[in-house]
Amino acid sequence: MSQNQRKTAVILGAQWGDEGKGKIVDVLSEKFNIVARYAGGHNAGHTVIIKGRKFILQLIPCGVLRPGCKGVIGNGVVLDPMAFLNEVKKLKDAGLPIHGADAGGDTGQLFVSNRAQVILPYHRMIELAAENAPGRTKIGTTSRGIGPAYEDKMHRSGLRVVDLLNSALLRTHIENACHEKNTIAHALFGTAPLDPKSMYEDYARAAEQIAPFVTDTAVMLNQAIAAGQRVMFEGAQGALLDIDHGTYPFVTSSSATAGGAVTGTGVGPTQIGTVIGVTKAYVTRVGEGPFPTEIGDASGDLLRARGQEYGAVTGRPRRCGWLDLPLLRYSNLINGTEWLVVTKMDVMDECAEIPVCTCYKIDGKMTDVIPADMRGFDSIQPIYTVLKGWKSSTEGITEFGKLPQLAQDYLRFLERESGAKIGMVSTGPDREQTMTMPEFAAVLA
Ligand code: GDP
Repeated sequence: MSQNQRKTAVILGAQWGDEGKGKIVDVLSEKFNIVARYAGGHNAGHTVIIKGRKFILQLIPCGVLRPGCKGVIGNGVVLDPMAFLNEVKKLKDAGLPIHGADAGGDTGQLFVSNRAQVILPYHRMIELAAENAPGRTKIGTTSRGIGPAYEDKMHRSGLRVVDLLNSALLRTHIENACHEKNTIAHALFGTAPLDPKSMYEDYARAAEQIAPFVTDTAVMLNQAIAAGQRVMFEGAQGALLDIDHGTYPFVTSSSATAGGAVTGTGVGPTQIGTVIGVTKAYVTRVGEGPFPTEIGDASGDLLRARGQEYGAVTGRPRRCGWLDLPLLRYSNLINGTEWLVVTKMDVMDECAEIPVCTCYKIDGKMTDVIPADMRGFDSIQPIYTVLKGWKSSTEGITEFGKLPQLAQDYLRFLERESGAKIGMVSTGPDREQTMTMPEFAAVLA
């Protein structure tokens, strides 16, 4: 692998999202010149705590919180203009200078792809109505219009950022789309229609404010890589929510796996240096869908309480479970994950015993194969190896050798069984509560 390739990395959630990627991207962004988001929308909800101050970023890559690091919203993202502008305002109010692409040179800090798709109010209308319609499978979406915006993208009827900036095109698009979506939503769900005139006015105004951030980010990223800059590609949600490889239909509408970094930014696969998967020391899942190692007893409540497992965007309590190695191995396989970052070690400090699922039993047969359908998932019997808990605090420990021996054993077991090397371990929500393994530090040096 060439030096140039090592200068880029994909970082993604290895599970069902909420793995603590936000913190890890923030910590690693120190090593990178650019952080580029490649999928999802303003449902990602990264929480970053810097010196006790909490930032929740839903759309803007958290790299922009570091001076000297640029943020890119790639073409694979669906952009809600109002959510974007609100987030920019929040950051500016917090005293962070946020300059757009128009600032040029090294001053430009935040860049939006001209090819990203735009979320409009009718996407939210359709999603809300459909999610609550009788007889539909509840996916547990965040009702932000993300799924319907991706539907329009694939249907080739979406509006892209470049079109948002063209006021004549924007007006016609909104008129036609409102006519169609209002008719559908009324016929299917009895929803009241949206007014295209005021929508056009609102979004034409928003377009003017967004214009300074817009550029051809594929060209920008490729030029940056050619110039030897370090680029991190940041995924949204987690690999098991990927539209192709996740637990369909309880998935997100985009490519959350490493492949999404390529299509979602316009940077070729030969330019990807390494893949880093972020996994909790246990597992959580928000919303509906299969979850073989879900804990039904008080241990689940303990993890939820200690890990504050409530959605950053929706506030929904997350379902908690034990580490699922067949799923982690699968995630590592489909992503080509080389390095793992294990987060929330400290959350398990009080567990007396830690069951880890090492294999599935399906219809009486031991297997490592992940079922493709819901019926298969329903028949999984997880086979556990029970490890001893360390029952002492790991909070804030930053050296592997200083972890309690049983915590070291747990991590080494996870590493051996998962097929990827542990590069970092997180022992608390703050930037400083992180350990980096020497071999991983050398890769990023
Ligand atoms: P993301 O979307 O993957 O970034 O995950 P979320 O932001 O939804 O959830 C991560 C939550 O866990 C945030 O509140 C973080 O501050 C917190 N967090 C991250 N790493 C750790 C850790 O190692 N220990 C503890 N206790 N909390 C952590």
